[in-house]
Amino acid sequence: MNRIYLDHAATTPVRPEVAERFSELLMNSYGNPSSIHGTGREARRILDESRSAIARLLGAEPSEIIFTGGGTESDNLAIFGTAEARKEEGRHIITSTIEHHGVLNAVQKLEAAGFEVTWLPVDREGRVSPEDVRSALRMDTILVTIMTANNEVGTIQPIREIGEILKDHPASFHTDAVQAFGEIPLDADLLGVDLLSASAHKINGPKGTGFLYQRTGTKLSPATAGGEQERKRRAGTENVPAIGAFARAAEIACETMEDRAAEHGMFKRLMSDALMGEGIRFKINAEEAETLPHILNISFPDTDIEQLLVNLDLAGIAVSSGSACTAGSIDPSHVLVAMHGEGAPELRNSVRFSFGYGLEGKDIRDAAARTADAVRRLTRIQKGEQL
Ligand SMILES: *Cc1c(COP(=O)(O)O)cnc(C)c1O
Repeated sequence: MNRIYLDHAATTPVRPEVAERFSELLMNSYGNPSSIHGTGREARRILDESRSAIARLLGAEPSEIIFTGGGTESDNLAIFGTAEARKEEGRHIITSTIEHHGVLNAVQKLEAAGFEVTWLPVDREGRVSPEDVRSALRMDTILVTIMTANNEVGTIQPIREIGEILKDHPASFHTDAVQAFGEIPLDADLLGVDLLSASAHKINGPKGTGFLYQRTGTKLSPATAGGEQERKRRAGTENVPAIGAFARAAEIACETMEDRAAEHGMFKRLMSDALMGEGIRFKINAEEAETLPHILNISFPDTDIEQLLVNLDLAGIAVSSGSACTAGSIDPSHVLVAMHGEGAPELRNSVRFSFGYGLEGKDIRDAAARTADAVRRLTRIQKGEQL
């Protein structure tokens, strides 16, 4: 049975054009960009070109792009870097309860170290309210960090509205755009953000590479001590092949954005129509919200997530639940808890389908049929057990 990969929000396959660029640079552009000889200058040229290409896609200046070791590192640099640079001005941070762990755990660490944190709630669709941000702002707020779009349910946050509110406040505004970059149009000035994180492996690039956008003038302390790379903001020899491949992946993602969004929207409808046609009971999480085109989070009443994931895997379908399974026990998704409350049934029966490169309509129809089979079987077992 063929495997169908529907977990593109977790990571993506590398596009052939990107892999080609990566291996070409790996073989040929091995110089250290800090070296003054020709080999080093050649690597420096690749680095500069990649930086300009990525800056252009964001409407930013090349000097505002800091290459990092991925989305988590970018989030950490933004959060710890702001806290360190601005701790004398204030110690209050605003964030939401549905952030990725790259943000969540960094902010928690600062909270444990004595910073005060306002954790904003979300509504049933997973949306942060800009008015809540406004009310939470204080004189000593130094950082607001709200993700551009959620990685579990896909909800797009009102970043522009929050940016508008923050225009009149000195707090730095960071957004984790790892899931949104390359999927929806992003312009740093239109969004009004000071710091923005992205990662290559979520857009068909290599793993372990990302960037942090830092608006000119935004205070930030480096998180690494070492050399003077990336204008002293991120020490360590740059991963030139991965950065070059990231730039290529980002360009392709932005060029193909509209077509992919249309196709993924069609996949969503195909999936839910097919499940409906199979007579399966299901509910789409964050259905009323504006969501990323490639993420579809579905709750299947009468099933149990552990059994569902095992059954889908056996059926060749790769998906995620927001919940982390550790040693056979389920740690409910903090995102679904924030949306539906503790103990809600959605916490135990939701699955994330996420679409991307290489999928065709027939894969989605196949996946829906196999999912329907698994759900029917589990529903029978569940009902049987209750008799
Ligand atoms: C995947 C992801 C990250 C982490 O990025 P890595 O490059 O894997 O470290 C951070 N935030 C969001 C929203 C993500 O989806």
